[in-house]
Amino acid sequence: MSGPHHQPKVSEREARQVAEAAREQDWRKPSFAKELFLGRFRLDLIHPHPMPATEQAQRGEEFLAKLRDFCETKIDGALIEREARIPDAVIDGLKEIGALGMKIDTKYGGLGLTQVYYNKALALVGSVSPAVGALLSAHQSIGLPQPLKQFGTPEQKETYLPRLARTDISAFLLTEPDVGSDPARLATTAVPDGDEYVIDGVKLWTTNGVVADLMVVMARVPKSEGHKGGITAFIVEAGSEGVTVENRNSFMGLRGLENGVTRFHRVRVPAANRIGPEGAGLKIALTTLNTGRLSLPAMCVGAGKWCLKIAREWTSVREQWGKPVAHHEAVGAKISFIAATTFALEAVVDLSSQMADEDRNDIRIEAALAKLYGSEMAWLIADELVQIRGGRGYETAESLAARGERAVPAEQLLRDLRINRIFEGSTEIMHLLIAREAVDAHLAVAGDIIDPDKTLGDKAKAGARAGVFYARWLPKLVAGPGRLPLSYGDFHPAGHTDLSTHLRYVERTSRKLARSTFYAMSRWQGRMETKQGFLGRIVDIGAELFAMSAACVRAELLRSTGDHGREAYQLADAFCRQSRIRVEELFGRLWTNTDDLDRTVVKGVLSGTYTWLEEGILDPSGDGAWIADATPGPSDRENVHRPIR
Ligand SMILES: Cc1cc2nc3c(=O)[nH]c(=O)nc-3n(C[C@H](O)[C@H](O)[C@H](O)COP(=O)(O)OP(=O)(O)OC[C@H]3O[C@@H](n4cnc5c(N)ncnc54)[C@H](O)[C@@H]3O)c2cc1C
Repeated sequence: MSGPHHQPKVSEREARQVAEAAREQDWRKPSFAKELFLGRFRLDLIHPHPMPATEQAQRGEEFLAKLRDFCETKIDGALIEREARIPDAVIDGLKEIGALGMKIDTKYGGLGLTQVYYNKALALVGSVSPAVGALLSAHQSIGLPQPLKQFGTPEQKETYLPRLARTDISAFLLTEPDVGSDPARLATTAVPDGDEYVIDGVKLWTTNGVVADLMVVMARVPKSEGHKGGITAFIVEAGSEGVTVENRNSFMGLRGLENGVTRFHRVRVPAANRIGPEGAGLKIALTTLNTGRLSLPAMCVGAGKWCLKIAREWTSVREQWGKPVAHHEAVGAKISFIAATTFALEAVVDLSSQMADEDRNDIRIEAALAKLYGSEMAWLIADELVQIRGGRGYETAESLAARGERAVPAEQLLRDLRINRIFEGSTEIMHLLIAREAVDAHLAVAGDIIDPDKTLGDKAKAGARAGVFYARWLPKLVAGPGRLPLSYGDFHPAGHTDLSTHLRYVERTSRKLARSTFYAMSRWQGRMETKQGFLGRIVDIGAELFAMSAACVRAELLRSTGDHGREAYQLADAFCRQSRIRVEELFGRLWTNTDDLDRTVVKGVLSGTYTWLEEGILDPSGDGAWIADATPGPSDRENVHRPIR
């Protein structure tokens, strides 16, 4: 495979440096999850569970009622699936009720919903049609409104936010044929020309790109006199001359997604349309995602709720071997997993979103954990639902209906959910990103020791600094309240299941997690970042501990407000017990695994040693190019921007 000729050649180190430069490096506010990875269980940061202000809740509930009515009467999920297209009337209706502006401030004509209610709205819409959920979320969570809100000039806000709140759909364009997880290779250019920039390049998988009115485009400004250069974010009108949508992509799921390939050929954009300074594009994108990342897990919560409903209704009526299948233990275990995990996912998303609204804590790790954990667990939940439904789980809703049965789209959910583990940061990338933040304190003190570019003198100085830090930090990891039988007594109210035992477990285990991380740091030093298996497990343990904490805090919230307290305690208990088994398994795999052996097998696979194993099959994919040429230039394909809608 060869990349297009304009592609910058980028080494692994350069790729990391670009990612590092885009990181927000300061921690101005406390972070529950960061502390957790450092062995400090700061329950006080999340308990009592933060609550929305009455006025915010009222506004949110009012909109949810309106949206529910709209979804029930105007959105036909089966039709969208069948025709692979969201009808214009749905999009117009969403605009009318203000759904494009859920997160936009009221002063710009938006609804000014909080993150909590925005997420609830997405979960609601996503339960009827994941494609419509994706349209709204791509528009508001990664599209133009959020970066404008955080980084736009007053003029940009005045010009665009009212349009985005009511009529204009936006898209976010970062990915290119040769640029996926690694933006350092970004090839789209924006060359300064007077008080304009000229954009050339090709963007791939642009969600909403086919129907967008406005786009956020990431392009590289070359360094020149008066121009700092670097990857930069631009607001581009989709109708600009030189913009062509070349293909409407179709996928395994989310069939209604208006996702395209968008080509830019000498597209002139006024300098006033630059968001933030030159070179700030990736930082803007990542900061936008700090809260934007909560949308996907919010829709995963909706998916979990739906799976629970179908599992309950189906397994109580479907009888095999003399009883409802729910009463066969193997099926029951799946139902329990679906219920407990859905409870925890909602706890994670609501807690993180409420913390985002309060803005007292830094929630970037929590949101990233929510995305990682939500997408992985929802996938397992949907897979279990398919299994519980048996052959009907594999059958399409349309076929079920044609045979006169209830049109349950279980297989569709599985297909629709699959992408969540890939986009907005794949699971592998989320592992690295969270691990990077989790070990940040170590790198801050010990960074120079492990940086191969630093001199011996620097390393010695860093060693002394690190010595002081660790002399104070390490002893604290040995003992804590998790060892004391009466700690967290609030979580063992009379007549309820005991959750205090789980919080003690989280406290103890967070210290064990930090000790393991420290041990690995001293063992591998500079090679630590290449130990992806180890880091992934550390992050997964952190995700479980966060989910357990959130589940307990939510159960106590529900008890104290009088809603379903006893049942919530039961579900939180079930979740924590299931989660603890996963945590213990992950700890076991920290040191007992096949990571080294796997490397040997990979070498064998790539060198062709095992090609005999591939014999006896045909490969229907043929021998076409792996990656389409993204050389900028005029499009010779038909402009499908409007005609395909
Ligand atoms: C339906 C859909 C909608 C999308 N919407 C948008 C959109 O609106 N805007 C936009 O800009 N993009 C969008 N994308 C792109 C999406 O964000 C990318 O697919 C994603 O970032 C992964 O990039 P990639 O597919 O090129 O995979 P690659 O980066 O090529 O990765 C291939 C595999 O390698 C792994 N990998 C890569 N690097 C590392 C590493 N350093 N360590 C460990 N593992 C690694 C990945 O996790 C993955 O498993 C969309 C994609 C799809 C399919």
